[in-house]
Amino acid sequence: MTQPKYYKAIWHNCNVCRIHYMSDQPHLRAYLCDDCWKTLPHFRAQQPKKENKMKQKNIIPAETWVLFYFIVGILLLGWSVYNIMVNEL
Ligand SMILES: [Zn+2]
Repeated sequence: MTQPKYYKAIWHNCNVCRIHYMSDQPHLRAYLCDDCWKTLPHFRAQQPKKENKMKQKNIIPAETWVLFYFIVGILLLGWSVYNIMVNEL
C-alpha cells in the first residue's frame, strides 16, 4: 500500500492495529498509535540504563578528584610558605 499524498496530515493509520490516530509528528513513534507504542519493548529496554546509572554512582565523581587536587595544592602551597617563613626566621 503506497502512502497517499496527504500522509503528513494530522490523522494517521497505525502500522500495527490500523486504527486512526492523531499526531503532528508520527515519525517519532514509528507511525504507531499510543497503545501500540506503549506496548513496544523499548520502554522495558530503558531499565538496564537505570542499572548502569546505579553502577556509575559507585564510581568516584570528577568533582571529588577536583576537590582532592585542590586540597593537595593548598597543602603544597602552605608547606612551601611555611618553609620560606622558617628559613627567613
Ligand atoms: Zn495501534
